[in-house]
Amino acid sequence: MTAAVIDGKAFAEKLRARVADLAEDFTAAAGRRPGLAVVLVGEDPASSVYVRSKGKATEAAGMASFTHRLPAETSQDELLSLVRRLNADPLVDGILVQLPLPKQIDEDAVIAAIHPDKDVDGFHPINAGRLASGLPGFVPCTPLGCVMLLKERLGDLSGLDAVVIGRSNIVGKPMAQLLLGESCTVTIAHSRTRDLPALVRRADIVVAAVGRPEMVRGDWIKPGATVIDVGINRVDAGEGKTKLVGDVAFAEAAEVAGAVTPVPGGVGPMTIAVLLRNTLVAAHRNAGIPLAADAI
Ligand code: NDP
Repeated sequence: MTAAVIDGKAFAEKLRARVADLAEDFTAAAGRRPGLAVVLVGEDPASSVYVRSKGKATEAAGMASFTHRLPAETSQDELLSLVRRLNADPLVDGILVQLPLPKQIDEDAVIAAIHPDKDVDGFHPINAGRLASGLPGFVPCTPLGCVMLLKERLGDLSGLDAVVIGRSNIVGKPMAQLLLGESCTVTIAHSRTRDLPALVRRADIVVAAVGRPEMVRGDWIKPGATVIDVGINRVDAGEGKTKLVGDVAFAEAAEVAGAVTPVPGGVGPMTIAVLLRNTLVAAHRNAGIPLAADAI
């Protein structure tokens, strides 16, 4: 193996420690803790695990965690009225509605109901528009975490060729906007892209956010490129066991790339750390307490 392994877990721990320090300062200044409300509808096992770990991480960072668990048959109106209550609650700085939602609920309507200043997931169309326009706003946690890892590894990203594989609103599109904001030359690939391997071979930065286990092979990667693997796929590991793999064939990529994120332990831990960071920023804005742009 020649590539450096980008340790997202260690970076995320540092970020969480910094957030906790600043949350303590906020609490002293505001007389209350920054608050994050997480809403879970139904009992999807993966979502329940995410919600529990978000709650624990929030408390560990010195913030107030408000978890709302609603039954799977909750109506859209019931969920929207909870979101409106949370919008009006002065102790709640950030609101996160865990996706996916049950079939009877329109996700877009729920996302649009969250006040943009409490939209710490950065999914509200106003925040997506702010990102596209280069204006300050909340940026989705996973792509922001990816950019933090890239900047930590490479410093200035300006002029680099970046290929983002995937065009979802949650990862691919905001990732591409962020890289454009860093003055990369950005190509967005998706399921209709022709000759993806040739495209990826030109890239200094590859971000894979597809949801297909080990799709990106080692011989797609330009020697020395930096590879960020967002994918989380559970696959059969034999003997009735399963394991997590990314969208990149890690062992192959590590023979060619300059640096690569592992799965698990790469991008995944950054997502919650950035959620806490966004909540801290929201708390400062909502309380009218300044936070230096380079504080975090
Ligand atoms: P989506 O399913 O919403 O999007 C997947 C994208 O991949 C689509 O744009 C799709 O193209 C594209 N795609 C599918 N097949 C191919 C192909 N053969 N070649 C090229 N592109 C293809 O997924 P998400 O963006 O929500 O998530 C992507 C992955 O990241 C998943 O594994 C998910 O679990 C993981 N994830 C990890 C997070 C973390 O914290 N680490 C957070 C969020 C997601 P098209 O638009 O044409 O259909």
